[in-house]
Amino acid sequence: MDTIIRKLTASPDDEDIYQQAAQIIRRGGLVAFPTETVYGLGADGMSEDAARKIYAAKGRPTDNPLILHIADRKDLERITDKVTEDADKLMKCFWPGPLTLIFEKRKEVPYGITGGLETVAVRMPSHPAIRELIRRSGTAIAAPSANTSGRPSPTMAEHVWEDMAGKIDMLIDGGSVGIGLESTIVDMTVDPPMLLRPGYITVPMLKRVIEQLQIDPSLMEEAAPGVKPKAPGMKYRHYAPKAELTIVEGDLDKAAEEIERLAEEKRRQGYRTGIIATEETRKFYHGGDVRIIGTRQDEETIARHLFAVLREFDELGTQYIFSEAFSQQDLGQAIMNRLLKAAGHQIIRL
Ligand code: AMP
Ligand code: MG
Repeated sequence: MDTIIRKLTASPDDEDIYQQAAQIIRRGGLVAFPTETVYGLGADGMSEDAARKIYAAKGRPTDNPLILHIADRKDLERITDKVTEDADKLMKCFWPGPLTLIFEKRKEVPYGITGGLETVAVRMPSHPAIRELIRRSGTAIAAPSANTSGRPSPTMAEHVWEDMAGKIDMLIDGGSVGIGLESTIVDMTVDPPMLLRPGYITVPMLKRVIEQLQIDPSLMEEAAPGVKPKAPGMKYRHYAPKAELTIVEGDLDKAAEEIERLAEEKRRQGYRTGIIATEETRKFYHGGDVRIIGTRQDEETIARHLFAVLREFDELGTQYIFSEAFSQQDLGQAIMNRLLKAAGHQIIRL
């Protein structure tokens, strides 16, 4: 199929883009669009047939459920009957925004988007493009990240184009996204609620609202045999570049020296190497492709650049990537969660 690509201009001309996109959604087609987290690939979330197309375009396993995106609190009434007091508090604090909540689903919500589960994931995004699209489509929009399953999530329209051209009806180009990591997910069907995926809304932020918050033990560790992550999608290899990625953790100077040594060794063997570095460590690296993803003083920049850097190494044909580690506090927890998954948990601890 031909994929239409249209660029938002923040002018009245955008009106026509939203009209066209909403029409595609209402007819059961696929539209990719920017959100505040990463680019999403959306379809009518109340239609099993439309949802099936998302799985086909991404090559996503059908037991990996989708997130339903809504624009108003009242849209939730069609999706769930059970909103706990804790859920209400979280929504008041963090919606619209990068927080996904898991609820018991009403029967109208098709099993085709919940991976057969009785529960459903819901988020109210803050990005004006997707909010506009939801309103005009008159439905909840089911949307996972707009990448081929297993690849790093798209943070620019160009990334979506690489993966989805010819497989979807339309791509709305809204430039680079603001956050760059997928939403935080909290399961509200258990008591106390449980964090299933870390994101921009951090554990300390959530605990200010729900003191008792539990954390899925499988989050930062490699899943032990028989221990299943609670979010079905978290069991798959994710965010993975084509190169072999190794994280080196330890005292910053020592870790940088070790990375430089390992990368040099690979280069001597004739491989193309990439290094994920920070402003603080730039001086340690002298060969191969070095990418500075930000400064350690500002984790938001690091989060925003992570997936783009992984994709860039794919383009370059990098064979071995070495990355510094980050603190597991606050936003660092989400950054390390994605990095560890991208590395298939290959980490050297000095
Ligand atoms: P993505 O949209 O690609 O960010 O993936 C959505 C994530 O939400 C996946 O990791 C899913 O496993 C998770 N998710 C969606 N629905 C549920 C649910 N009902 N229960 C637990 N996790 C869910
Ligand atoms: Mg995804």
